[in-house]
Amino acid sequence: MSTYDLAYNQDHRQERAAKSRAQRAAHPEVGANYRATHKGDINAKARARYASHKAEEAIRYKTYYEAHKAEIAARMVSYHLTHKVERATYRAEHKETIAARVGAYNKTHPEQMATSDRTWREAHKPKLAASGRAYKQDHAAEIAIRQRAYYLAHPDKISAHRHRRRARMAGAEHVPYNPSDIFARDLGVCGLCHERVATKAEQSIDHILPISLGGADSPHNVQLAHRRCNFAKSNSALQFPQNLRLAL
Ligand SMILES: [Zn+2]
Repeated sequence: MSTYDLAYNQDHRQERAAKSRAQRAAHPEVGANYRATHKGDINAKARARYASHKAEEAIRYKTYYEAHKAEIAARMVSYHLTHKVERATYRAEHKETIAARVGAYNKTHPEQMATSDRTWREAHKPKLAASGRAYKQDHAAEIAIRQRAYYLAHPDKISAHRHRRRARMAGAEHVPYNPSDIFARDLGVCGLCHERVATKAEQSIDHILPISLGGADSPHNVQLAHRRCNFAKSNSALQFPQNLRLAL
């Protein structure tokens, strides 16, 4: 190239770029054809450039992504829909790599994961509810066994949950408390028979004024009681006023 050509090229850079852009736009098949026949070269070149200019390229990609978000998303959706089989095959062939990558990402991005999970759940609520119902129906026996095991392992949580629920239904006051704090406060003595509550299995929380009669589910209306005493009390409502003792 002569000095004159170089100077000309530099002076008319934008003009030349515009011209070749127009040409490419008028003949898209030329570019597409070139890209189709040189796919490997183009990819290798792009990879090489990315490797040697990582920081710059990352910024360039990010900028492009921000400016073309909607377009890219639409392209991805259409690709996903038209390449279902290919994608499934790829996933099956790269199961472990994908799992490792997702696992690593989850660990380093817990907040993003939580947000995207929430968004997804919100967007798929009816579907999720339907699949949950179907699962419950198909696994009723297993679920019952699991629930029973949980119930046996967490009696405190279950009874607290039941109390909260009863209080809510009755419109009664509910102030959170920890059953083990009630145990400590009441010095391990049953409020109904005044005997020691020896084991955790015997332990229960009695509502001094029952929730059904407007009593609150709160520390000032509960006392430690043997499970059997509590049961006897609720079975004989007539007897309960004699056992009424305010735990302060
Ligand atoms: Zn007792």
